[in-house]
Amino acid sequence: VESLDVDRIRAAYPILEREFSGSQLVYLDNAATTHTPDPVVDAMSDYYRQYNSNVHRGIHHLSQEASIAYEEAHDRVADFIGADGREEVIFTKNTTESENLLAYAWGLAELGPGDEVVLTEMEHHASLVTWQQIAHRTGADVKYIAIDDDGRLDMDHAHECITDDTAIVSVVHVSNTLGTVNPVAELADIAHDHDAYIFVDGAQAVPTRPVDVQAIDADFYAFSGHKMAGPTGIGVLYGKRHLLEAMQPYLYGGGMIEKVTFEDSTWAELPWKFEPGTPPIAEAVGLEAAVDYLEEIGMERVQAHEERLAEYAYEQLAAEDDVDIYGPEPGPDRGGLVSFNLESVHAHDLASIMNDHAVAIRAGDHCTQPLHDKLGVAASARASFYVYNTREEVDKLVDAIDSARQLFA
Ligand code: PMP
Repeated sequence: VESLDVDRIRAAYPILEREFSGSQLVYLDNAATTHTPDPVVDAMSDYYRQYNSNVHRGIHHLSQEASIAYEEAHDRVADFIGADGREEVIFTKNTTESENLLAYAWGLAELGPGDEVVLTEMEHHASLVTWQQIAHRTGADVKYIAIDDDGRLDMDHAHECITDDTAIVSVVHVSNTLGTVNPVAELADIAHDHDAYIFVDGAQAVPTRPVDVQAIDADFYAFSGHKMAGPTGIGVLYGKRHLLEAMQPYLYGGGMIEKVTFEDSTWAELPWKFEPGTPPIAEAVGLEAAVDYLEEIGMERVQAHEERLAEYAYEQLAAEDDVDIYGPEPGPDRGGLVSFNLESVHAHDLASIMNDHAVAIRAGDHCTQPLHDKLGVAASARASFYVYNTREEVDKLVDAIDSARQLFA
C-alpha cells in the first residue's frame, strides 16, 4: 500500500506545531482523541457562519439548509461503513452513548433471567459497565470470553460461552488497550448460529481501517467522531433496520415523534425516532467532512501507515529488556497502538517524564480495569498513532523512555 505524504497531511493540523518548553509536540494519544484537520474545522465554521439553524425542516431557508446537511451527513456515514441507508445510522454523543442507547432501548426490554450477555475480557468500560448494570436490573447473566497469553480471544472459550441462552454478544473490534483486532465476523457467525445478536464496539476500528458492517454481519455497531479526525460531541449507533424498527425509543421529546395527543404518542421514522431534541448539527457537518477527509486519503493507507508505525514502535520497545508490551505481536490481528510498562517506573511517572519532553502518551487503565487486573498491573502506558505521526516521533518516544530510565535508575 502506497505510503502517506505526511508533511502534506501535517500542514492541515496547526496544533501539531505547538511547542512546550522548547520541544515540539509529539502527539501519541490518538486512541483517546485524534486531532481535527483544517477541512473539518472549516466545514463546522462554515456551518456556524453561513447556515446555523435548528433542523427538523423549519420553513425558512437556513433551517432547510441545516436540515439537508444534517440528514445528508447520515447518508455519508452510512455509505462509509457499508450500511443500507440513513435509517440505519443514529447520531449520538459518542460510542458510550451509543452503547447505552442499545442497552436501555433493547436490553432493558428484551433481557431477563436465564438470558446471557457475552462480553470479552478486553471490553472497554463503555460496554462492560453498561451491560453489567443492565444485567443487574434485568436478572440476565454476564459471561466473559477469556483472552490467551498473547492477548487474543480464546476462540474455543468463545464457542463454550456463546450458547442458545445467549441473547447478545458484545465485543470490541480493536482493543484500545491490547491493540488486538478481534475476529468479529467469525463471532457474528457464532452468535447468529445461536439466534443471538452481536454488538461491535468499533471506537478504535472505524478510525483506523476499512469497516463494512454488512460484511461483518454486525447487528449493531458503534463509534465516535472524535477518534476519526472529526469533532467531539458526536457518535454513531448503526443497527440493522428491522431491529431498530422493532426497538422502542430510549429518549423521548421533540423531533422523535410522529403524532402526540394528551394520552399517547407515536414515533417518527428511522433514524429520527432515536434522535430527540436538537441534535449535534455542527458536529454532524464536521463528521461528514472527516469522512470525506479520510476517504480522500484512503482507509487502506490510513491503516497501513498506523500499523507500520505501531510495528516500528513495537520492535523498538521489544528490544528493551525492561519493557513489557501487552497484546499480540505485530501482524494482521494487531492495530495501530502499543501499550507497555517500563518495569522500574510507574506508567503515570513515565507519562509525566514524557510530557516534560512534549511527548503526549496515555497512562492509566484505559477504561479496561478488569483487563489490567488480569494482566496483573494497575496501569500501563499507551502510544497510539494516526495519519500525521512519523517514525521520528516514535524515536522521540523511545528517547524519552531512556530519559525516564536514567532518572529512576
Ligand atoms: N470503546 C473503545 C474501544 C474505546 O477506545 C473508547 C474510547 N476510549 C470508547 C469505547 C468510548 O468512546 P467515547 O469516550 O467516545 O464514548
